[in-house]
Amino acid sequence: VGVFYRPLEKIAAVIETYPRGIAGFRRYQELLATEPEIADAPDAVDAPALKGDIRFEKVNFAYEGGRQILDGIDLTIRAGETVAFVGPSGAGKTTLLALLPRFYEPTSGRITVDGLALDQMKLNSLRRQIGLVSQDVFLFGGTLRENIAYGRLGATDAEVLRAAEQAQLGPMIATLPDGLDTVVGERGVMLSGGQKQRVAIARAFLKNPPILILDEATSALDSQTEREIQSALDALAVGRTTLVIAHRLGTIRHADRIVVMQDGKIVESGQHGPLIAQGGVYARLSG
Ligand code: ATP
Repeated sequence: VGVFYRPLEKIAAVIETYPRGIAGFRRYQELLATEPEIADAPDAVDAPALKGDIRFEKVNFAYEGGRQILDGIDLTIRAGETVAFVGPSGAGKTTLLALLPRFYEPTSGRITVDGLALDQMKLNSLRRQIGLVSQDVFLFGGTLRENIAYGRLGATDAEVLRAAEQAQLGPMIATLPDGLDTVVGERGVMLSGGQKQRVAIARAFLKNPPILILDEATSALDSQTEREIQSALDALAVGRTTLVIAHRLGTIRHADRIVVMQDGKIVESGQHGPLIAQGGVYARLSG
């Protein structure tokens, strides 16, 4: 029995740990080998079921030995809000959101969720409540069902099927020789970029976290696929605090709030219309 359960334990550990740092944030590849990089404080508590009220208070950050990347970030996000982060490449969007699952610690300042400082919570109990949908999805050489179930260990077949449908994988599954039991990845059916993204979305539906981080794909998808994925993501965001790292501006027009970053600072924030009218950085990025 011990031997049988081993691989499951390994996967469970992986789901709770996430890969290390920004590279890992974007790529799940290396994740099988990672150890939790931050030890819990001796008095850390299990995070309660979070609502997802997030506050960044005077947050500064520099990578080890490097220049300052985040400079005095103050930001309050209400539970259930969808906030899109935009700005030139290198502005610090990804770095800011990587602080939330604690891939890195702020150099100074504080981040709280529901009033609890991140470092007061046990890391695993925090990360269990944060979903991550990124452009680089880690697929292993098992069936599509196993790849989706990776979102939450112990999910039933019915739950996996439902998540697949929520991620709009249904039509694709119908074309596969063995449906959900088709082997995908290296030795199986190769999935397209759009299909892989939907697997990531299905995993997030299964995980059902109160906080969601979406690292929008930079790779081009055809416009039909893009619309389908956007509608699956919109459905996924409902009822969750959703932070979107936006690489294209078209998809975030309807965000509750757009936060514009430049050189590690928040330089503007608001909704699309008023930001355009303001004629500042966002308006220039949109032009
Ligand atoms: P993009 O839109 O290109 O994804 P971004 O706004 O998300 O950009 P970040 O990825 O947060 O920006 O990068 C901000 C800065 O931090 C960049 O100058 C980048 O080179 C640097 N940086 C990112 N990761 C690391 C790291 N692991 N070590 C050192 N510097 C890093």
